[in-house]
Amino acid sequence: MKHTIPRGTKDILPSEMPYWHLIESNSKKIFNLYGYQEIRTPIFENTPLFERGIGQDSDIVKKEMYTFIDKGDRSITLRPEGTAPVARSFINNGFHKKSGDSKLYYCGPMFRYERPQAGRYRQFHQIGIENIGTNHPSIDAETIAMAYHLFESIGLTKVKVLINSIGSQTCRPQIESKIKEYIHPVLSSLSEDNQDKVMKNPLRILDSKDPTIQSHLKKFPDIQSLLRPESQAYFKSVLSYLDAQNVPYQVTPTLVRGLDYYTETVFEIISDDLGAQNTICGGGRYNNLIKELGGQDTPAFGFAFGVERMILILEQQNTVSLEQDKSVFIAPIGKEHQNDGFKLANHLRRHGIPCMLDFTKNDLSPLLKKANKTNARFTLISGQNEVNNQTVILKDMKSGNQETIDRNKILETLTERLSYV
Ligand code: AMP
Repeated sequence: MKHTIPRGTKDILPSEMPYWHLIESNSKKIFNLYGYQEIRTPIFENTPLFERGIGQDSDIVKKEMYTFIDKGDRSITLRPEGTAPVARSFINNGFHKKSGDSKLYYCGPMFRYERPQAGRYRQFHQIGIENIGTNHPSIDAETIAMAYHLFESIGLTKVKVLINSIGSQTCRPQIESKIKEYIHPVLSSLSEDNQDKVMKNPLRILDSKDPTIQSHLKKFPDIQSLLRPESQAYFKSVLSYLDAQNVPYQVTPTLVRGLDYYTETVFEIISDDLGAQNTICGGGRYNNLIKELGGQDTPAFGFAFGVERMILILEQQNTVSLEQDKSVFIAPIGKEHQNDGFKLANHLRRHGIPCMLDFTKNDLSPLLKKANKTNARFTLISGQNEVNNQTVILKDMKSGNQETIDRNKILETLTERLSYV
């Protein structure tokens, strides 16, 4: 029986790895520059964490979670996102007792039962950060600037920051009743799902793609005008801190984000190089989540981006130069010289030069064929003559040139040549 991969998942093959390494290493580097430390939480959590944290009426909790009962009769969920687990860990580990803010980052797989399409999977990877402890517009702006800085450093072009404020919980009732008022005349003609949204989570209706909803919201007032003065002033201040850091943005009044925990600033980073699934990164302020999950009242700000989607863009841009192959193939001619081959390889490996060997072949021609297949940049050939003379033949696999060099010059020569690759 042939086994197929589960729908919505993919193997990440070695050919894709240079992209993964580029994104992961740049993320860690940039997060460190801003004072963030890594945290790793379990891949599964108790289900109520997400029901409470993300919200019962969100699409994720209603339709997308991988939830199962384990052998101990507990309801377990594969994490669909990283913020609720980090918030739980913050509370469980008494992080609030630490002096100063908690600046945390994570990377790893997330699971959502969504309809798969390009850029949308059921297992995907997010890299994200959470800044927990301070309610100040400079935190929102510095964090968005960090995301922008990171995307630039990875080499993404054509990305845009979209930003909005959905106000605090005190602003929410007014916005929600206004939305209901606008939608009321067409409510009964909407799908059951949208009717449910209007009743339970009306804010989500603002970014709906349903044409009936859109036409009725055309004249909907700018959400900023419905915010309380404190929230308006907060948002203005976030924008001016972004200006100070030269981060370009576009205020987008219909941007509301899918998760219930957001308050005040919300933002997304989108790419013109992606089709329908054009959001790479999403985040915002969530001042109520930690309290909602049983912790002390603690404000926070965070974002997450999807690694697979970022790779789609990088592949499309085709502008990022990925690491070239810097390995050396060792080709001892004749079985009797294989141990010599091991010695050469181990000497080079100890000095950081990747080496490959193949002792199933002893003749030059099949050895060179193998060297080509492995994408080696250079091959070291050594037969009886070379052993007698304490030399080795260095073959450049790109140009085909070969030269004889002294054994005691191998390391020096390869180090120098590989530095130009
Ligand atoms: P969210 O947690 O929904 O705000 O998503 C943040 C980012 O994660 C998105 O902008 C995407 O880049 C990525 N993402 C979310 N859902 C998926 C998915 N099903 N497949 C691939 N990437 C996703």
